[in-house]
Amino acid sequence: MGRIAEVAGAGLGGLAVATALARRGWQVRVHERASELRMFGAGIWLWENGLRSLRRIGAEEQAVCNAKQIREWAVVDQSGADLFRRAFTDEDTMVLPVRADLYQALIDAATAAGVTIVPGSPVASAEPDGILFLADGTRLTADLVVAADGAHSRIRESLLLTDRISYLREGYIRLLVPRLPGDEEAVITEAWHGSRRFLYCPSSDEQHYLAFSCLVDDRRGRAVPVDRDTWKETFPMFAGMIDRIGGDGRWDRGMTVTCRSWSDGRVVLVGDAAHAMAPNLAQGANMTFTNAVSLAAAVTDAQDVPAALRRWEDRERGLTDHVQRWSHGYGWVVSRWPENLTGARTRFLQFATGLPWVDRQLNLAARHVPAGSRS
Ligand SMILES: Cc1cc2nc3c(=O)[nH]c(=O)nc-3n(C[C@H](O)[C@H](O)[C@H](O)COP(=O)(O)OP(=O)(O)OC[C@H]3O[C@@H](n4cnc5c(N)ncnc54)[C@H](O)[C@@H]3O)c2cc1C
Repeated sequence: MGRIAEVAGAGLGGLAVATALARRGWQVRVHERASELRMFGAGIWLWENGLRSLRRIGAEEQAVCNAKQIREWAVVDQSGADLFRRAFTDEDTMVLPVRADLYQALIDAATAAGVTIVPGSPVASAEPDGILFLADGTRLTADLVVAADGAHSRIRESLLLTDRISYLREGYIRLLVPRLPGDEEAVITEAWHGSRRFLYCPSSDEQHYLAFSCLVDDRRGRAVPVDRDTWKETFPMFAGMIDRIGGDGRWDRGMTVTCRSWSDGRVVLVGDAAHAMAPNLAQGANMTFTNAVSLAAAVTDAQDVPAALRRWEDRERGLTDHVQRWSHGYGWVVSRWPENLTGARTRFLQFATGLPWVDRQLNLAARHVPAGSRS
């Protein structure tokens, strides 16, 4: 019988790490607080690093089978002037499935790998020697405990691993709208106007993913259901798309989490529990998959699990910290740049994103090949 892993949280991160471990021979059980496994309506950007990781755990094909392959990401200002463009190729891919498809693919991959998923099983805390306490007082012992219980992780707090939680000045509304014949289907358009931003993301044959970002004190901007009039005033060129919005949508305030350490003994943090980040570079889940795959490779043959976890963090953390910083900086330029200097912003971005060094920093994660994605 393989070694035992108990995982807290059946989000994207918990399912990915559970599957990666189970495929390497671990006996894995996932505890999910919610009474059923369900994903909300939005799309998700999957970069090459995330796709490589999903391929490694047998979830890629199903995750993207209805998704549009994106050829370009175009960022424009309010006058339609290009701020920057990022092209994708067959080797450097961007795919944009709806979240429900990705989630179902992860559930199926986990099940196929022999993972046991237990909904309605909230966790309470953990201890470094591999003990997981459920909320009902049950005490479980494992070779590895994974905290994938999200940005507000109970396990992280129980081990005092949090360094800093920052709430951002901006937030995001996400939703899906129906696709109509003739709609653009290979280009993501991100439009900026003052501190507001609108993203049109072709997602599947049936739906597009729309995202709106604004400052948290922009009451009309952050309203759900979406205040269509205010957003159409800001982005008249997308009025037709905004008119397709139904009554749904989800608002989230951005937040970042940094930790003193990603592990304590046999307990390890994965995903938003370890490194929730501003979503501007759309790498939170992609980095979660990357780190999940390399974590499974790092611990599988290790005699000393705590030491293997520390070495894994030493290897992976630099890139994750880098993406967190750049994603945060991108949000600053979008929402905190002085209103009366937006012309200068356009010129600054056109100059900066033309520099090869900036291009490398922005795409460092997307072009990263995760350790463990080949073996
Ligand atoms: C606006 C926005 C857009 C984004 N877009 C992208 C994108 O395009 N691409 C990308 O890569 N990333 C994106 N992200 C980031 C991405 O969504 C997250 O990084 C990712 O979902 C994190 O997954 P997770 O499993 O770590 O955490 P979560 O998704 O938060 O999952 C945690 C799970 O743990 C469960 N849980 C919580 N507490 C307990 C408990 N006590 N006991 C048991 N279970 C518990 C929860 O119910 C949940 O199922 C975006 C984020 C935002 C806010």
